[in-house]
Amino acid sequence: MITRRALLSNGAKVAVGTVYCGSLVSFLTGCNSDDDNIKIEVLPGGLMVVDPVLCVGCRRCEIACSWSHGKSAVSPNTARIKVVKNLNFGPHGVQDNYHQQRGEEGDGTIVPETCRQCNVCMAACPQQAISIDEATGARVVDEELCIGCGYCAENCPQQVITIDKLTEKALKCDLCQGKPNCAEVCPTGAIKFYTWEEAVAEVEHHEKYLKLI
Ligand code: SF4
Repeated sequence: MITRRALLSNGAKVAVGTVYCGSLVSFLTGCNSDDDNIKIEVLPGGLMVVDPVLCVGCRRCEIACSWSHGKSAVSPNTARIKVVKNLNFGPHGVQDNYHQQRGEEGDGTIVPETCRQCNVCMAACPQQAISIDEATGARVVDEELCIGCGYCAENCPQQVITIDKLTEKALKCDLCQGKPNCAEVCPTGAIKFYTWEEAVAEVEHHEKYLKLI
């Protein structure tokens, strides 16, 4: 059983969350955590759960992301989350081999792809302009240091970093200070963010329900 104490004790939320992540996701999504479609980020502030199967491609998450950061044009191009991929455009521009991919112009696969807050971009940055926000777990770009070279974008495994054409700075998910706007606006629950308190409350609610049946 997952207890509030187990989840919140000793400040070791990330480690505990990792251990209990599968169970939590089962509880929180109603899905088997072995489902390859579901992507989970365990963060200091909570759990980010992305289920592409639920995505209807409305792109509200992209617009909310772009709008809320507000330093450039509001557009999916300036969003730090990418929904429609494989359409012969994206952070890397026209792909040389796009015609060898699924469909000549891509197949329009809808996959809300979010930053996993790995360290690849940090390691690739020659300016040491990307660092860890300990409070949220986000890898954040220091715009004073960023020179827009694009190494972070080129190396990003998820291809969710872009270089803003106006500011010539890297656009990268910063988890919106711990309350991701993409999750706030998603109408289908394809992107969800649970603080640890919310996750525990959901689990407790679920356990109470189980006792009733
Ligand atoms: S807001 Fe949700 S449903 Fe809409 S595109 Fe983004 S992930 Fe998909």
